[in-house]
Amino acid sequence: MHIRLLVLPALASFALAQTTHTVQPGETLYRIAQQYNTSVEALQVLNNIADPTQLRVGQVLRVTGQPSPALRRLTQAPAPIEAIEWPGETIQGHLAVIRITAPAPVQGEVRFLNNTYPIQQNRVLLPIPALQAPGVYPARLRVGGAEVGLEVRVVAGSFGRFVLQLPPDRQALLVPERLRAERLKVVGSCDFDRPQQWRGPFQKPVQTNRITDPFGTRRSYDGGRSYSYHEGLDYGVPEGTPVYAPAPGVVGLAERLFVRGNAVTLNHGLGVCSGYWHLSRIAVKPGQTVQAGDLLGYSGNTGLSNGPHLHFEIRVRGIPTNPAPWFLSVP
Ligand SMILES: [Zn+2]
Repeated sequence: MHIRLLVLPALASFALAQTTHTVQPGETLYRIAQQYNTSVEALQVLNNIADPTQLRVGQVLRVTGQPSPALRRLTQAPAPIEAIEWPGETIQGHLAVIRITAPAPVQGEVRFLNNTYPIQQNRVLLPIPALQAPGVYPARLRVGGAEVGLEVRVVAGSFGRFVLQLPPDRQALLVPERLRAERLKVVGSCDFDRPQQWRGPFQKPVQTNRITDPFGTRRSYDGGRSYSYHEGLDYGVPEGTPVYAPAPGVVGLAERLFVRGNAVTLNHGLGVCSGYWHLSRIAVKPGQTVQAGDLLGYSGNTGLSNGPHLHFEIRVRGIPTNPAPWFLSVP
């Protein structure tokens, strides 16, 4: 969904106690990425930089995926748990990862925002929806018959805002039932119980640094009465650009969809799945195992798309999350 007419100013960003870098004369995004042991594309998506050659001296860049490295720690927890750690703050659309210290794998779950998230490999990946209002939300961790209450603090991200006006033939694509059915198909292709497949940070799925729309952009299709958001990030690449798996996984879905066009999803384990939309050609089959760097297909302009690009997204148990942190470090 990439047709925009009216561009409104970006929402005010929150002042966060985050690790930042101020651009010095002569610095390039590549040099800064090396300095912080990260990648150009991670800095681009964290800072909404469309063109990495357009850095300004004095520009302040975010260089970490979390607003604050400060962790909260709880040691009064049911046996056999020795400690529970989770981030002091999590940005809208990011993951709050709860880590459990225990001598053996712990069985249990966390109730959070009307969903249930299992403890897997002594971690709980809690996706914060991109439209979740900033505030403090309770998470209830249950192990055996015992329960522990944790507070998860959600802080605002910095997102652009667009009012889109679709031509009548495209509006026909936005029938709520069809949208819902397609979304269920995408989420349904993700096996939440598969063990973790990734072994390190994700690679970029296409060989470009050109991001034409980052994650989380607020979008209105009805003149501003209601807003949804961009569920992934768009790479501006010509039709036919090879699209590669960013991490090991198993193909969930590989078929033509109505809105998303030729679509592929990958299962990376622990309920983490990635999606690749609007492809011109698909090169994998459902059930196929892929390694990082394996060809998934070729970018295109199929489905609800107004120009060749790759839409890349990462969902955690069905909830779209910002792909940027996955290029930096993995849970
Ligand atoms: Zn997109």
